[in-house]
Order: sequence, then C-alpha cells, then structure tokens
Amino acid sequence: MVDYAAAIRRATLEAGRLHRDLAIQARVVRGHGRIDVYEAITKLNVPLLFTKLDGLLGVYLREPSPGILVTTQRRQNLQRYTAAHELGHHYLGHRPSLDDEDALRRAPFQAKAGDDPQEVEAESFAAAFLLPRWLLDWHCERQEWTDQDLHDPINLYQLALRVGMSFKATIWTALRYGVFNLAVAREMAALPLKAVKQKILHGYEPDDYRGDVWLVTDSDKNLRLEGGPGDLVVVRLPEHSSSGYLWRIESIDGEALDIVADSRERLVETGLIGGSTLRRITAAARNSCDGEFRLAEERPWMRAKPLNTFAVHYNLAGASRQGWYEPQRLAHLQAAA
Ligand SMILES: [Zn+2]
Repeated sequence: MVDYAAAIRRATLEAGRLHRDLAIQARVVRGHGRIDVYEAITKLNVPLLFTKLDGLLGVYLREPSPGILVTTQRRQNLQRYTAAHELGHHYLGHRPSLDDEDALRRAPFQAKAGDDPQEVEAESFAAAFLLPRWLLDWHCERQEWTDQDLHDPINLYQLALRVGMSFKATIWTALRYGVFNLAVAREMAALPLKAVKQKILHGYEPDDYRGDVWLVTDSDKNLRLEGGPGDLVVVRLPEHSSSGYLWRIESIDGEALDIVADSRERLVETGLIGGSTLRRITAAARNSCDGEFRLAEERPWMRAKPLNTFAVHYNLAGASRQGWYEPQRLAHLQAAA
C-alpha cells in the first residue's frame, strides 16, 4: 500500500525547504508576490530548455546530467507549472520523467489508488512551491480578502493570476490550506472559466475568451501584471466625481493596450466614499510589449494637482519561446567569452 498522504506531506515540506535554501520568501514578499520557478531551477544549476515537445508538456532528464525541458505550446502559467513539476522530480531525487497532459492535469494534493507516487509527489511539490501558505496569506492581506472572500471564484481566479498558476491548481491548493471544504472546491473546479471571465467583463464581449481577464483595483497599486498578448485588463477604481475628480488615462507605454470599454457605476452612499462613482476601464492587450499603464484622478480644469495616481506595470510577453531560458543562455555566452 502506498502511503499517498505521506508522499504529499514530504513534497510540501521539501518545497518549503527549497524556499528557505534559496531565501525565496524574503524576496517575494518584498517584491511582487510571485515565485520565479525558472530562477530557482537556474540556481540549482539545472539547464532549462523551452521547446516543442510532441505530446508532452515537460521532461526531466537525469543522465548524464540533469536537465528540464518545457513545452513551448502552452500558455505561460502552464509552462511555469510544468517547470515546477519537473523541478519537483529533480529536487525529490526522482527517476527521469516524461510528463504528458494527464500527468499535469491531475489535482495537486489529491491521489487515488493506482496513481504513481512519484507523480503525486511532483504535482504536490509544484503547487506548494508556486503557492505556499505564506504567499496566499500575503495576497489576502494585500487584497483584504478573508477565507470567505476566496469562496468567490472571481477572487480565486485573481489570486491564481497574481501567483502565476492555473485556476484549478489554485483551487486544490486553497483546499489543502483549509480555505474551503471539498464540496466548495469541487463546485468551483466544475465552473467554466469563461463564465468567471464574463462576470468580470460586465457585458464587454471579446472575440474569444482564450486570454486571461485581470481585475485590477486600488489594492493593486504598482502591481506587476505578468500576462499574455490576448489578455484583458479591467481597472476598477473609486472616482470622487461629486467633487469634480475624474480618472484620466495619462499614458500607456508602447501603446500595448487598447481601451475597449469605459463606464461608471454609481456607488451606494456609504459615508466613506459618499457621492462617488466606480470607474471601470477595460483594456485589451494589442501586442506583447511591457510597460506601464498610468492613470491620474484629477479635476479636468486643474490638471496640475491629481487627487490620486495609479499605475500598473505590465509584461504581456506571454509564453516562453523556443530556446534556452534566456538568463542561462546569457550566462553561457559570458562564460565562453
Ligand atoms: Zn512527472
């Protein structure tokens, strides 16, 4: 009998050990709340190559020396997750592994009789590495989310985007941390992501729903948005319109975003933000640039003094393309020079 619970525990503990060994937590909480799995692989001196892998998502090689291959044919979050899975095989001392869709579609922290214990471990490692408990807490604190707020699929999806993991893997990881029970997790995992995206878009209909939909609020000041070329960004900010202040788009670097919708909702008088409106600006990525999206809340006739400013840094490069992981390639070039 395989003790799956022990395998899952071990994988989780080892992910935590690697966070400590590489001093990841301090950097992530001072930074942008996202774990750089490619950097971790590089620090362990494991070569990392992105390439077309027919029928496979990732490969872990051991002989003659370790190496990780990740598909170029999936979105960036699945690439990250695959890399974390292969890192798990490496760090846990596993046999070489060829991982297809099935291996990476299982729910982390879940196992049933007959599952390969090595795969159960690698999956749990991947989820615990990309979304440790302390990182979930960090995002909840920043967003002022309680556990109850994470029962809302919109918030859980936004958490997934910020940590760079799939919606489903985020659900199973939140279940592991006791954010909700199995019934809630199953219900949420059964939701089509398109429906969640539609709810955020509030009536705006894109040509397709392949891209991610980011909901950016005033809890996201100076957010680093790591997205892809098909993504949509909904910026929702309170606007002090009764005092004459309106949000104005100051600039969009590289013109990487198109404004596709712009609307206002009247906020219910709460005393706190009495007489305000909620401004909702929807932007669609039009290329894969990176840059900054800047807004200022000001009186149109007194532009010199904005009441508030707001900026989001975006990187819409999307999936990593064919080739060695860029920093590794550069390090090789430098060593050879
Ligand atoms: Zn595997």
